[in-house]
Amino acid sequence: MNSPSDSIDDIISLLNKHYHPNSNQEQQSQQNSRPKAGIGNVMLPQIKQQLNVLSAIPNTYNNNSDKFKRKAASLNRQQQPKSQAKDTNSFLTPMTRYLTFKPYSGSTDIIINDVGYYYKFGSSPIKLVKGLLEENGFKENNDKNWTLYWSSCAIRSEIYTNLFAYQKVCHFPKSYEMTRKDLMHRNISKMQINHGFINFNFIPKTYILPAEMSYFLEEHEKIKNNNPVYICKPHASSQGKGIFITDKIQDILNKQNSNNSYVVSHYIDKPLLINNLKFDLRIYVAITCINPLRIYVYQDGLARFATEAYNPDSVKQNRFVHLTNYSVNKDSPNFVANQDPTLDYLGSKWSLLALREYLKLNKINEQQIFERIEDLIIKTIISVESAIFQACEMNVPFRSNCFSLFGFDVLVDQFLKPWLLEVNFSPSLNIDAPLDLKIKGEMLADLFTLIGIVPLDQRFSQDLSYVRNQSNYDVKKHQQEFEKYIIKETEEEMKRSRGWKRLYPSDQSSRYSKYFESDRPLNALLRNHYK
Ligand code: ADP
Repeated sequence: MNSPSDSIDDIISLLNKHYHPNSNQEQQSQQNSRPKAGIGNVMLPQIKQQLNVLSAIPNTYNNNSDKFKRKAASLNRQQQPKSQAKDTNSFLTPMTRYLTFKPYSGSTDIIINDVGYYYKFGSSPIKLVKGLLEENGFKENNDKNWTLYWSSCAIRSEIYTNLFAYQKVCHFPKSYEMTRKDLMHRNISKMQINHGFINFNFIPKTYILPAEMSYFLEEHEKIKNNNPVYICKPHASSQGKGIFITDKIQDILNKQNSNNSYVVSHYIDKPLLINNLKFDLRIYVAITCINPLRIYVYQDGLARFATEAYNPDSVKQNRFVHLTNYSVNKDSPNFVANQDPTLDYLGSKWSLLALREYLKLNKINEQQIFERIEDLIIKTIISVESAIFQACEMNVPFRSNCFSLFGFDVLVDQFLKPWLLEVNFSPSLNIDAPLDLKIKGEMLADLFTLIGIVPLDQRFSQDLSYVRNQSNYDVKKHQQEFEKYIIKETEEEMKRSRGWKRLYPSDQSSRYSKYFESDRPLNALLRNHYK
């Protein structure tokens, strides 16, 4: 990374070195290794001009972008001609081009030319992410100027604060507000209280123990004659580990002696069944921007089946009946692995599209189910929007720096009501079957295309959105241009959405505005635009 004291010429030569180790290589790679990726030609004078643009950005606008301010301030010291600074008054520069990604083929034999695109893992490498990036011409490099940072874990705040405009990291700060079981319940319960239980009635009633023990016992007392059944989960675990189902309150009380924190939910005992088996849905959801908020859902996903016939009265300890986790059921003698991705309705894991087709053929109103799922996705994200927005204000220099891929786990009951079980911070990208490679590979390629990774020559033309509110600018004129820029940015993103469906903003946005803690101007802008 460049230090704040680098001169523009230093930075140019650094860029030159990093992005053009030799120009033949670039040409060669354009011919050979990136069939779909849209690399532009790097034009150093343009980069230089864009660095001048950076230098003209005021260091007073955004009080949270320290790194950015330092960069701008240091560049400001490079006596910029005033006339060049004035050019930055406009957002209406030609729209940035972005790279297009092709799905990973599954090959382990990838030859990468170093053309200046780098990625970095913040956790152990994930084969699918690595393969996909490398087949699209990216090279792993932890020191150089990486474009994409992928991690299964939370990202440290110093990584956020040091980001350049063109760099992307795969998590928003504070996403755990939605992905930790206890916090998700707390946030949605808060919405139930503030905005009506009926509008947020898509999570099973839940208690965080031991903190809510007396409330839990009180509530249990009221319904105990109905023999309620509870599912108990360690508050920070996954893959069905440590889960038990019980209708005996003593089982739950015993667990409290072990000093562990448990999330105890009402058990949904009438799930929708297919071939007498319980199943749940893995829905992929992406947030591409928090300001303005942009949410997408992937059209395909997975349906994961239990491996023994469901009966609400069957032994509660039988995990092959009651749990739908792949990690649990793959150990069942009844587990059927799907070996042919074209037969995506066979075995213990189906594609979401196959499931929808099946429901349609069986005259089950799948459209209604999926509309309800989309509604719960939007509401769940709104419940944490404020926390994420504020964390970004504090730590993230550019609006374009973060994106997130979430796995929403949804159980549908016999009344076709979807229930949100949990949101996964880092949904599994393991490839255990050809169907995984097909669905997750396409989803990820479409995600990388959607988020907008800039070609080398456009790196410093990105995200001019912080140029505003300057005293020496015509604020009103500038505001209008900024708004046009945001609309254009949003529409350009939509054109890259491929298998992703945009949920928010939409022509329905106004239905959701009352649920936001603050009505952000950019959300209002897009709400009015799409009305
Ligand atoms: P984990 O993170 O350990 O996978 P989940 O919350 O996803 O925990 O639950 C594991 C499985 O248990 C789910 O896939 C689902 O089949 C079942 N399950 C979870 N909560 C409920 C519930 N409230 N009612 C019925 N089944 C549930």
